[in-house]
Amino acid sequence: MNYNKKSIEDIDVRGKKVLLRCDFNVPLKAGKITSDKRIVAALPTIRYLLDHGAAVIACSHMGKPKGEWKPELSLAVVAARLSELLGQEVLMAKDVVGEDAQAKAAALQPGQILLLENTRFMKGETKNDPELSKALASLADIFVNDAFGSAHRAHSSTAGVADYLPAVCGFLIQKEISIMGKALSDPARPFVAILGGAKVSDKLNVINNLLEKVDTLIIGGGMAFTFLAAQGYGIGKSMLDSEKLGYCKDMLQKAQEKGVKLLLPVDTVAAKAFPDPIDGPIETVTAPVDAMPEDMLGLDIGEKTRQLYADAVRAAKTVVWNGPMGVFENPTLAAGTIAVAQALAEADAVTIVGGGDSAAACEQLGFADKITHISTGGGASLEFLEGLELPGIACLQDK
Ligand code: ADP
Ligand code: MG
Repeated sequence: MNYNKKSIEDIDVRGKKVLLRCDFNVPLKAGKITSDKRIVAALPTIRYLLDHGAAVIACSHMGKPKGEWKPELSLAVVAARLSELLGQEVLMAKDVVGEDAQAKAAALQPGQILLLENTRFMKGETKNDPELSKALASLADIFVNDAFGSAHRAHSSTAGVADYLPAVCGFLIQKEISIMGKALSDPARPFVAILGGAKVSDKLNVINNLLEKVDTLIIGGGMAFTFLAAQGYGIGKSMLDSEKLGYCKDMLQKAQEKGVKLLLPVDTVAAKAFPDPIDGPIETVTAPVDAMPEDMLGLDIGEKTRQLYADAVRAAKTVVWNGPMGVFENPTLAAGTIAVAQALAEADAVTIVGGGDSAAACEQLGFADKITHISTGGGASLEFLEGLELPGIACLQDK
């Protein structure tokens, strides 16, 4: 994939109507926004466009209304919050491409902003229906995509509309592709990737692709046990992807052929049962991986493994991390994830965190501001690491 895409700084937006795809898919509880992080993240692009004399027609999806008109998923709450944050009025359209949106878009002046209704109220959105794409395009002169979290989807408002309008990226997507794109195409070395989380099967293609690029691949979390089992270790009652044993063997062999160091846990923090509730009290033992008690399951990496992984991270010049090292939701089982987050924070390296739970862990643990880049898209950042072409980025003009 070409990561060298035109941004809003490469074109003249003055006097133009700009259709801006944002990621306003904010969490709601009882009709109230519980985190406005995504709205705040969109501000630099919006302000730039308004300050440079564009009229901004913003759009986004929220939730999964599946083509139905669901008032509880109206973007009106986003318009209200955005207006507070911007300190100016945000006009709200009653529909997506209907009469109200058309009239308000047509009347919109430079420096003004209009928000369209939830794009997924339209059946055509997730089908990438050309009629909807054309209707969206007819509202504006330029398309700007800044919704990285949806860039792995080929929908009308994320990619289809670019068939009918000149298309460039905003600052959020620009940052994602410049930092992650560089890490994957021309990384400062040593390049270390750390993968964790629950299952091997969630990250199959990521492992395969990263083995083509990294110097060291570190594996932790639940997925490490399938690798350990593939090496012949007893893993007790630990999480096992039994269908993926062969795949893990192939990956171990591929790492050897490519000269990639593949690090697996040497010890694990184990317990008799998965904690219930997940953050409830739990009794643990630390066991070396060649002496795992049969009646226990591994729930975090042990002390020696923490040291080993942290040392590898600290020696790196580029680090990509996706997936926690243990059941970090439980304070007794968070030490492995903390050790890795801390090593990332301390490393003199470009550090990138992708994946919802890993990003949340960095924030909860207070390391977020010491990480070069925390990706805003879980699924999108995984597909990025898989080396896949993301439709919402591929559709933008090359530099
Ligand atoms: P991300 O969202 O960062 O990509 P994942 O969703 O793949 O991460 O995985 C996160 C989940 O993996 C967490 O809920 C965590 O509790 C779980 N997990 C980590 N280690 C283990 C383990 N050893 N056994 C079971 N589950 C684990
Ligand atoms: Mg997750």
